[in-house]
Amino acid sequence: MSEIKSIAVIGAGTMGSGIALTGATSGIRAYQIDISAEQLSRAEKYHKKTLDRNVEKQRMTAPEAAEALKRISFHNDMSAAKAADFVIEAATENFEIKKQIFQKMEATFPDPVILATNTSSISITAIAAAIPKAAARVIGMHLFNPVPVMKLVEVIRGLATSDQTVQRTMALATQMGKTPILANDRAGFVSNRVLMPMINEAFYAWMEGVAEPAAIDEIMKLGCNFPMGPLRLADFIGLDVCHDILMVLWRELALPKYAPCPLLRQLVTAGRLGDKTGRGVYEYPAK
Ligand code: NAD
Repeated sequence: MSEIKSIAVIGAGTMGSGIALTGATSGIRAYQIDISAEQLSRAEKYHKKTLDRNVEKQRMTAPEAAEALKRISFHNDMSAAKAADFVIEAATENFEIKKQIFQKMEATFPDPVILATNTSSISITAIAAAIPKAAARVIGMHLFNPVPVMKLVEVIRGLATSDQTVQRTMALATQMGKTPILANDRAGFVSNRVLMPMINEAFYAWMEGVAEPAAIDEIMKLGCNFPMGPLRLADFIGLDVCHDILMVLWRELALPKYAPCPLLRQLVTAGRLGDKTGRGVYEYPAK
């Protein structure tokens, strides 16, 4: 199997910028694509800042950082990336948006280019069904935030995903210095199916007065050896994101245990979304 030399990353938000940068620091040419010029310029600043910090911390030399930066280019249309060997979609978590992007991806990138999505909760099979002729090339490549740091890539096989698509995706994850693990296409895959009910239960424990948030988090850190308590992690992920993923689990698996806790729902309604809004379970005055 030939090495992947270039990737197109659709979406330049939190995940897309992390994916493009990780590709570039692994020697892969990365086309960073977004419809928003502002997001592209934010991504460029993020790349420079992260590479500068890597040099400061002696994780790489200044010439290596400069080379990595040169490997990334910025575009507002995916046609500029049509020479890419592999495409990773990391745009907004919305089925209609992803469906349109995948239709455009099918028209832009010929077989055998892999069409991967970084979705956290949307069915890979449903995305593939929007482009039936290319369904064998569609796969989930679920990376984690912050991408340069987190080792896991949850590779999700849809109903029509071919073996070759799986192998090539596992190979790219390894090339990017990650550990790929394969899962099947069920709501929440493995990571969110297991994590989100635990986060939800932490909200119930808080709501029912079992303990205050700091105590819940400290108990889970010290007692279960978690690096971060579940409520702190929920703020980091975004309470709206946690809420939306629980809604997917609830709808698709139809069990009451997945219904979002009323307290989580209330914080989301109030606009307390976590780190990104400066207040969620906890307060983050600097943001
Ligand atoms: P984000 O909101 O930070 O970025 C989304 C980007 O997509 C924005 O820059 C937006 O302008 C762009 N976009 C929207 N429509 C587009 C289009 N038609 N073409 C090109 N770009 C378009 O979102 P994010 O947190 O980076 O999440 C991206 C994806 O990654 C989602 O599917 C999400 O579920 C998944 N994910 C997120 C996390 C996380 O912790 N944030 C973790 C794993 C997976």
